Amino acid sequence: MLPREDDNMHIGVDIKAKIMEDVKEAIRVFQENPERPTKFGEPIIGYVDATDSMFDMYFSRRLSNHPKNIFRPGNTVVVHFVPFAPEITESNRGGDAPSEAWETAFNDSMWLSMRLNGVIREALDTVGRLSSGTNTPTDWDEELCREEWSHKLAAYAAGMGEFGPAGCLKTKNGFAGRFGSIITDGKYAQAMPPLSNEELEEAFQKIQRQYCEKSAAGVVCSQEMINACPAGAIAKDGINRKICQAHCKTIDPYIPSPEVCGKCFFY
Ligand code: SF4
Repeated sequence: MLPREDDNMHIGVDIKAKIMEDVKEAIRVFQENPERPTKFGEPIIGYVDATDSMFDMYFSRRLSNHPKNIFRPGNTVVVHFVPFAPEITESNRGGDAPSEAWETAFNDSMWLSMRLNGVIREALDTVGRLSSGTNTPTDWDEELCREEWSHKLAAYAAGMGEFGPAGCLKTKNGFAGRFGSIITDGKYAQAMPPLSNEELEEAFQKIQRQYCEKSAAGVVCSQEMINACPAGAIAKDGINRKICQAHCKTIDPYIPSPEVCGKCFFY
């Protein structure tokens, strides 16, 4: 059977270009709202095939749900990232508590992200594509210390960046900001040949190392990074997720994600 062609050009519409344009416009309009004072930088939008073998690895190792488990007819995961303005990121460097600007940005960006999901789905609607949301804002699993669906792991599979401490993702537009995603039945990403079991194991080990997961092979945390953690969750051999989560819960009882603290993301 011939591979299905990319759906990007549809009756003369470049849908990826339209999505980017609509996302930028939605960010511009969002920033006009005086009740949402956060300023944002340039968005990045990534596309990854829902059958990518990285998703199988994430699923089998309980790192994230699988896109096909969320929306079976989905063929592509569309991931968006909107960075905070640089001064917001800098305001959170050092100290024990998140800066006010960081906390505000965390909340504002959640609303923006939901709006962007809507904007992308509307754009896909115009070319007759089905789509589905990937998560609810509060899908945090305290047992596993993670969200049920990880936008960042999808972004990583889409080649949008490399991981850093506590699972922050370092993109070309920075690590501080908000990721979101939707799934569509449109084909907007090249299906890559599946990785071998050895390659998937290597990819898993690399992610664990980049996360600075406690006791993962090859993790060595600097003294500076250890000192930066207000919870004492970081030791030389990595980050204790449970201690991190307990601290983050004091900041946000509903989404105790490292994002709400973020002090170690600078390392
Ligand atoms: S508590 Fe903060 S600084 Fe410590 S590991 Fe978690 S996110 Fe990083």
